[in-house]
Amino acid sequence: MSQAGSGRQEKRKGQEQTESCNPFACVAPEAMYIHVPFCESKCHYCNFYSIKANKAERAAYVDLLLLELRERARELTASGVAKRPLRSIYFGGGTPGIMSPGEIEKILLEISRHWSFASDIEITLEANPGSDFAEKTAGFKQLGINRLSLGLQTTDNKKLAALGRRHTREDFDHSLEAAYRANFTNISLDLMLGLLGESFDSFQENLELVLTYKTPHISFYSLQIEEGTALARQVRARPDLVPEEAEERKMYHYLLERVEAEGLLPYEISNAAKPGFESRHNCVYWRAEPYYGLGPAASSYVFGLRSSNLADYSAWAEAISTGNFSKACVIEEDVDGTGARKEFMMLGFRLLAGISKEAYRSLFKEEMDERFSAELGLLLKKKYIEVRAEGYRLTALGLDYANRVFGEFI
Ligand code: SF4
Repeated sequence: MSQAGSGRQEKRKGQEQTESCNPFACVAPEAMYIHVPFCESKCHYCNFYSIKANKAERAAYVDLLLLELRERARELTASGVAKRPLRSIYFGGGTPGIMSPGEIEKILLEISRHWSFASDIEITLEANPGSDFAEKTAGFKQLGINRLSLGLQTTDNKKLAALGRRHTREDFDHSLEAAYRANFTNISLDLMLGLLGESFDSFQENLELVLTYKTPHISFYSLQIEEGTALARQVRARPDLVPEEAEERKMYHYLLERVEAEGLLPYEISNAAKPGFESRHNCVYWRAEPYYGLGPAASSYVFGLRSSNLADYSAWAEAISTGNFSKACVIEEDVDGTGARKEFMMLGFRLLAGISKEAYRSLFKEEMDERFSAELGLLLKKKYIEVRAEGYRLTALGLDYANRVFGEFI
């Protein structure tokens, strides 16, 4: 029995479900994240864990993942907690789109041997644009994958090259056409703002082009300069290329207004969607609900325990292949009732509809206003949040100081 696994089982067994404990400690997750750690090359800004892999290495990864899936299913059965049908499976990375449909099919088949799927399950695959992906799109659709997340980042080919991305805008066009031809309707694209040398005007131009794609979901992120990356070295040489913070904030607020005018409602700090196209999987994170995470570097939140698989493929593979599942995973936090309440607030404020008093009451059997009167009072006074009928949400000012809002609940 694994240490992490036994940790989860023991946690569940020792859990007396009381009103003060973590309400997620005694329920099985309905969402599963699969981390595919492979990328064809390293983007200049990226500090995620990713490695290159050939066909044989991808096949070996799939075999290991099947072992990990079986162990997670065994653990759940041993805990005595009833499995719940999965409502979301998310293949993230890395670049899951470099897997073949046959490899993804093996993983989905193994999941289906241990878990049932909700009839309206959302199955997302992240992919980078390119001819290789375009050729496989119909194959992915046939497997039941019904949501694609495509990493466009910008429509400017020079900026794509400067970011170290392998694709061009034309590759994105080609991949998007292939996705529509394969009858994908639920498609998200990733867009970056605050790129080196980007002005408000060039961002506006870029955004207009992005909106012509008419995808029902857009995720948008400010470029982060992470130490140790090629981008950090570029910035040291040319710090003048980094847009001023005020300029970057102007881009962000303009984007929120512009996408809304196109019917894409900003529903989270970094996401906008046509109604009904919000990412079900990511909403699990923002509602602080539990999820399984498999594959190297994947995080899990099961029975109130937050854990992470090793962000080292060889070490993860060694632990899984030898049955030492405890060594593949590190428990990071045992979230008690107080922690669960704080997470509900901190993550919930990411959603632009804000946090609901009724949802809080129903989960924790107490009043949010009583538990967090000091924190909410302070945030209201600073005008970072505002009252709405159901609870509280960030103001426009709060969007710029969101980290301070989250910080009140850490
Ligand atoms: S494709 Fe994504 S995960 Fe891979 S190197 Fe680029 S940014 Fe990182």
